[in-house]
This record gives sequence, C-alpha cells and structure tokens, in this order.
Amino acid sequence: MDVKRRKFLKIAGLSAVAGVAAPSAFNMLLKGDAVASSGGGHAEKTENTGHAAKAEPKGIQYGLVIDVKKITHTKGLAEKCIDACHTEHNVPDFGNPKDEIKWLWVDDYEHSFPEHSHHQKNDALHEMQFMLLCNHCEKPSCVRACPTKATFKNKDGIVMMDYHRCIGCRFCMAACPYGARSFNWRNPREQYANGNFKFYKKPLNPEFPTRMRGVVEKCNFCAKRLSKGMMPSCVEACGNTGAMVFGDINDPKSEISKVLRENYTIQRKPASGTYPSVFYII
Ligand code: SF4
Ligand code: SF4
Repeated sequence: MDVKRRKFLKIAGLSAVAGVAAPSAFNMLLKGDAVASSGGGHAEKTENTGHAAKAEPKGIQYGLVIDVKKITHTKGLAEKCIDACHTEHNVPDFGNPKDEIKWLWVDDYEHSFPEHSHHQKNDALHEMQFMLLCNHCEKPSCVRACPTKATFKNKDGIVMMDYHRCIGCRFCMAACPYGARSFNWRNPREQYANGNFKFYKKPLNPEFPTRMRGVVEKCNFCAKRLSKGMMPSCVEACGNTGAMVFGDINDPKSEISKVLRENYTIQRKPASGTYPSVFYII
C-alpha cells in the first residue's frame, strides 16, 4: 500500500471513529498536502489571484483555446462537438440531469465565469455558448485530493483518470472548483432484457472502456487519440472553423501559442490558483 493511500485510510478511519464527516477528512488531507508541498507548490499561489507568480514553463502542457463567438455563431457546432466527445468515450446518458455525466458541456457566462464582472455586461454575452470541460490545470487540486492516485497528471500535462484505482470517495469532485468531474451513481452497463445497453443511444466504441457504478470520470483531452497523432474529437468536429485550437502551450512555436499571443483570452476562476489550460476568446 502506498503512503498516500495509507494516509487517507488512517484519516478516514480516525474520522469514522470520531464521527467526523467525509468533508472534514477531505480538508485534513488537503491541509496535510498543503503543508507537505509548502515552499514551491500550489499553497503559495492561492493567496493571490493565481496567475501573477507563475513559474517558468517546463515540458509539455497541452491546452485548448475556444473561440466562443465562433462556437456560438456556427449553428449546431457545440452539439456536434459534444456528440463527438461522448460517442468517442462511451459517455452514458442516463436521461435526467440528476445523474448526468459531463465531459463536454455548454453553460452561460454567469455560471462559467462567476469571478468576472457581471456589471452592465454586453448583451451579446447573454447569447453566448461557453463550452466547458476539465481544464487540465497545471496545478490540479483534484490530483492532490485523490487518496489512491486514480487521478494523476501525465507527462503531457493531461490530468488522467485510472478508473480501476478509483474508490468512489469523490474527494476529487469536491476539490475541483470547476465541476468538471461526474460520478456514476447508476450502472452505465445496465442492459435491457434483450441485451442492449440501456444508456447508450449509439453503438459502443470498442476502443474505449465503459465505466461502472461508483467511478468518477471526466474529459481526458483525448489522450489516446493524441498518442496516435490525432487531434481531440471535439477539435476535429470543429473542422476548419477555427473555433477550437489545441496544442502545447509551453511551445512558443505551436499554433496554440500563436493564437494565445494574438488574442485576449480569459480562463475560468483564476483565483482558485489551479492554472487552467483551457482559454476562452470572447
Ligand atoms: S478542471 Fe478540475 S478536474 Fe480538471 S484538472 Fe482542474 S481541478 Fe482537476
Ligand atoms: S478533448 Fe476529447 S475528451 Fe476532452 S472534451 Fe474534447 S473530445 Fe471530449
């Protein structure tokens, strides 16, 4: 058993004995991590608005730029992107908002950017469709919160999920400030009497696993497609509209770096100090 898992089980055990609720155990775990990482980590950065004291970039950090006007003004494009993502990854549709599993979804300005000014805002903002997904944060709070390392950052800066290691504690969901993670309360593999899967409207993609009840999931930046030299499904679905640009934000020569240099972009909840790798041109 690794040290982190042992630490989690110890805290969880003590909490159970003392009658302490799960969120308290979660706070203890985060607090412990913050102490352990002091002197160079995330804890230092949360004291300011997040982005001022950013360290020099190292290695690959994949990111995504979303041009909100292009998404909004190209009829049906947002739905096409969501469909491409959810079909590729066998994302179940339980048919009600309570059990919804979200990898890529749309929301309005107020919910997407609650920390930005809403005073006398431009009317056009009301109409805009903000595509939301996991931000693959440079300093992901979900990774620090996961007691089993089921959620981790890979060498390309992608925040991944190992479904087999997920114990369903949902600490990562509590730690993510963006609501980017979903939990399977129901069994996605449930079948009709005739053997068809109940919660999949389309044939399954045999290249991606279906999930089980009690497991957390989220966007994985299409890591498997990237390893084959392909673009993420949502980016591919945008075709040549330029509505989404994907690439290494640490490479000054990449297309995404050029787009970031040439446009004013905003990120979600900068005060959380997680440094999202998803940027919005509005
Ligand atoms: S958006 Fe949430 S789930 Fe995604 S990396 Fe950041 S903290 Fe983790
Ligand atoms: S990057 Fe891939 S997994 Fe993430 S939202 Fe786009 S299609 Fe879905």
